[in-house]
Amino acid sequence: MLRAPRGTKDILPPESHKWAYLESLLRRLSKLYNFEEIRTPIFEYTELFSRTVGESTDIVRKEMYTFQDKGGRDLTLRPEGTAPVARAFLERGLAQGALPKKLFYLGPMFRYEKPQAGRYREFVQYGVEILGSPSAYSDVEVILLAVRIAEELGLTGTVLYINTIGCPKCRQAHREDFVKHISSRAKQLCKDCLERLETNPMRILDCKNPACREAVADVPLVKDYLCDDCQEHWDTLQQLLESLGLEYTVDPTLVRGLDYYTKTVFELKWPPLGAQDAIIGGGRYDGLIEELGGKPCPGVGFAVGVERLLLAAEKGQKPLNPDVSIDCFVVFPGGGDRRLAQAGFKLVNDLRGSGLSSDFDPLGRSMKAQMKHADRLNARYVAILGEAEFEQGLVTIRSMEHGWQKQVPAGQVLDFMKEEVSGGSK
Ligand code: AMP
Repeated sequence: MLRAPRGTKDILPPESHKWAYLESLLRRLSKLYNFEEIRTPIFEYTELFSRTVGESTDIVRKEMYTFQDKGGRDLTLRPEGTAPVARAFLERGLAQGALPKKLFYLGPMFRYEKPQAGRYREFVQYGVEILGSPSAYSDVEVILLAVRIAEELGLTGTVLYINTIGCPKCRQAHREDFVKHISSRAKQLCKDCLERLETNPMRILDCKNPACREAVADVPLVKDYLCDDCQEHWDTLQQLLESLGLEYTVDPTLVRGLDYYTKTVFELKWPPLGAQDAIIGGGRYDGLIEELGGKPCPGVGFAVGVERLLLAAEKGQKPLNPDVSIDCFVVFPGGGDRRLAQAGFKLVNDLRGSGLSSDFDPLGRSMKAQMKHADRLNARYVAILGEAEFEQGLVTIRSMEHGWQKQVPAGQVLDFMKEEVSGGSK
């Protein structure tokens, strides 16, 4: 038997109902905060990611699904959403339009990672980006949206971690002292961190290895090297969070993996999730657009893994409970009088035409088996068109929720059902 590739998932009903529910919640919140949707291609030129995410990051070094197409182009299945959005922003001239531009995306990303609970090779991210605003108010705006998502899903006890990683100017000054300090403890570092020391030293702060964590315990921190602009941004951000009464924890070791971040970085964690407890991660990326060849244009955003949100929601206070019922199941004998079967089928079609979700049994099973099927499909009502009803021009309507049964003239069934479904009699 052929199987789905490792690290991928089939989303089957009833889980797919939860996906649809969560996606509509994310779209509703996007609208509330005035983010408009952008859809970018699933694959891009590889260079887009190597240049922006960073040659030394895990994503670019180890995790990309990169291939050559038949024309010899180097392409990559997108591992994240910000670089494609920035590319489209530039290429499609959005930079010349009204700024800031507030965009959201929702779609699959691909990373060759070791699959485990909450971590897949194909996963779906929802993310928002505000392009063209250098203001700390925009940082707080995206943080508030992140917090709101968690709230709407009933995730109590989330922890907001924030940090500043400065700009290339502050980092230059910091890097020298940082490298000097870490180099004196190089013996303690794991193999990956030794490499990071050469390529991307700040990422050592990200390592979970206890010896590496010890090596960075009293390392010089960027926050003590900030230039005036970054310092002011950092102060404004914290004052604003405080003015809103939003609790946060400054985590000076929070650097986030990708090269394009500047100033603010943040993560929203939900501890009950265990090892993969970061549900939302984001930050500011003021150099990204320039890196892609555009005029300098600041940006800030976040991304959230939809699988992880779903996992969290299931464990939270408000497990997702989407409506999986259908309005009406029409029971009619499949064999025998063809006119009767045709009338039954027409009733299904008319109910659907009136906007009521409806279904029937195409297999011509016994009335009893059809009633059972209706129950399995969570039908709220069953319309029974048996031989006796057909002869008298009636349809029997049964409420599956309340147990009553009524006979309704065939010509009035649609109006009766519309009235019932929109909250009629009990
Ligand atoms: P990142 O783009 O790495 O900052 O990740 C942002 C969010 O995407 C994380 O907080 C997770 O919720 C989610 N995420 C990242 N990688 C994966 C993965 N391999 N599988 C599932 N979700 C992921």
